[in-house]
Formats: sequence, C-alpha cells, structure tokens
Amino acid sequence: MRIVVSGAAGFIGSHLCDRLLADGHAVAGLDNFLTGSRRNIAHLANEPRFEFHERDITQPFEMKGAVDAVVNAASPASPKDYLEHPIETLDVGSAGTRRMLELALAKGARFLMMSTSECYGDPLVHPQVESYWGNVNPVGPRSCYDESKRFAEALTMAYHRKRSVRTNIARIFNTYGPRMKLDDGRVVPAFLDQALRGGAMTVFGDGSQTRSFCYVSDLVDGLCRLMMSDERYPVNLGNPRELTILEFAEKIRAMTGSKSGIEFRELPEDDPKQRNPDISKARAVLGWEPQVELEDGLRRTVAYFQLQAILPDATPVGTA
Ligand code: UDP
Repeated sequence: MRIVVSGAAGFIGSHLCDRLLADGHAVAGLDNFLTGSRRNIAHLANEPRFEFHERDITQPFEMKGAVDAVVNAASPASPKDYLEHPIETLDVGSAGTRRMLELALAKGARFLMMSTSECYGDPLVHPQVESYWGNVNPVGPRSCYDESKRFAEALTMAYHRKRSVRTNIARIFNTYGPRMKLDDGRVVPAFLDQALRGGAMTVFGDGSQTRSFCYVSDLVDGLCRLMMSDERYPVNLGNPRELTILEFAEKIRAMTGSKSGIEFRELPEDDPKQRNPDISKARAVLGWEPQVELEDGLRRTVAYFQLQAILPDATPVGTA
C-alpha cells in the first residue's frame, strides 16, 4: 500500500512510518515541524519507499499518485506544546483533519484518525470505556486539544456516514518511548531527565492522580491492526497498568538508582485525576494488548536519551 501519514516527524508518527515501511508499504510523510523534529525521520533519508513533504495540512496541498490509506497523526500533543499553540492545535484538528479526510475521499483511501484519551476529559467513569462521552471543560486551558480531537472524531464519523469513507478512530492513552522530546514537559521525559541528572523530581499536586503508560511499539502495533479493521467507532489503545504519579516518580527513582528528592508543585488546571484505558474492545476486535513491561520500556527510553547524548550515563535502568 501507499500510505500518507501527517505528523510523520512527530513522536508517534515517526514510529508508525518505521513500522509501515518495515511491513513493506510505501509511505509519504507530511509535517510542518511545529512540534515534530527532523531528527525523528533523518534515518529515512535514503529509504526509497519513504518520501517526505514539508506541509502544513491546514493549508491546501496537492498529493500526486495513488493513495491507499491516510493516517492523521498531526497535532501538538503534549500539554506544554498545545498550551503554547492553542490556535494551531484547534486548526489542525478541524481544518487539517478535513483536508486529510478530503484526501482519503478523493483517493478512495481508508482513513485512520489518531484521537486521544483527552476526549474523556477528567473522567467520571473509571476505567474509561469507549461508550463514555467524557467530562470535558470546553473553555479551560486544555480545551484547545480536547475539543479539537472531539471535533476531529465527529468530522471523521460524518465523512464515514455521508461520504462512505472507510474510517477508524484510535483513542490513544499516554504513550512513551524513544523520540519523545526531553523538554516537552510530559511526565516520562521530565522524570527521567530529573532522576538521571539528580535534580528534584517535580510531582504536580499531591501525586495521587493516575496515568497508565503504553510503550510506543505496542501502540503502533494497535494502530496498524485498527487501520485494517472494519471497526468504525473509537477504540481505546493504551496500557491498562495504572499508577499514581507519585508511585511513578518513586519507580523511576528506584530503577535509575537516583538520589533525587521529590518536589511538589501546583497541579495544572483541569489535570485529569485518573486515567486508565478499558481495552476490552481492542482485545476482542483487534486481538491486541500491550506486550512491553513498563520497566523494559523505560530502559529502552533511557538508552535512547543517552545515545542522543542528551542525558548523562547512569546506572542501567532496571539493575538497581
Ligand atoms: N506531571 C508531573 N510532573 C511533571 C510533569 C507531569 O507530576 O513534571 C503529571 C501531570 O500533572 C499529569 C501527569 O503527570 O498528572 C501526566 O502528565 P503529562 O503531561 O505527561 O500528560 P497528560 O496525561 O496530562 O496529558
């Protein structure tokens, strides 16, 4: 297949490109580098089945040749990034998603929307099931991301219902791994950076809020399965192992043999108190569940940061 991936230079987008190429497909990647990085796709420079186009998908663009599938992975995704770029975030979820859907329609291609667990907002149903409609503040600081993705889901369903596009929607929960930006503010790179440098680990609030972390290769495998399925309604993809943020800080400290202290900071506004995917649907429909243990995934993530020489050498994670 020839597959167009928007957000190809992003964290998840670039891993998806790698996997699609490894599966023998041709990939056309699009990115405007608002939050993506050239470094994430630099290794593909001599890959004949990979082409890259620097494009802002909120603006008109032409795509020559046949296209079998379109994956819409473009969006700022870390709270720090979307709080810095709220209008671009709303634009890419609305106008950008519309252009990608139009591309799929024009080419007779299938379409995969990369949505988010943020559609559930600060969820009152736990763990989150796909049938839950969520608890989103429409005017809070996170609304630019939440509502952008909720609109993108609605647009995707409308193109399916009115234009018969073969669509899929992935609701992606917290994902981590190599190619995250060390300074993107998210908890995994922040804690690893702090633990390995010996700086204080910044726990927001009292650390009782929960998250569930999925290693990127597991997530990408779920995306590939979903893209080939006939499931039109959203499917949760994430790792159901849930930890409080304080437990997570302590785990990272122990695994890295770090002497870092813990420093409590103010909880950001509308920070969800709990998040854990119910993945029964993904198990049943896709035969999918995560394979990589948290400790193993964290070890691989640290190895990447050290290889990039952006972190000092430290006790190999997992040996402490
Ligand atoms: N968090 C934290 N310290 C940090 C960064 C994040 O305690 O230095 C918390 C944050 O408040 C949230 C959780 O970790 O409860 C996950 O935050 P992240 O930004 O990774 O993603 P989110 O799940 O909020 O989209």
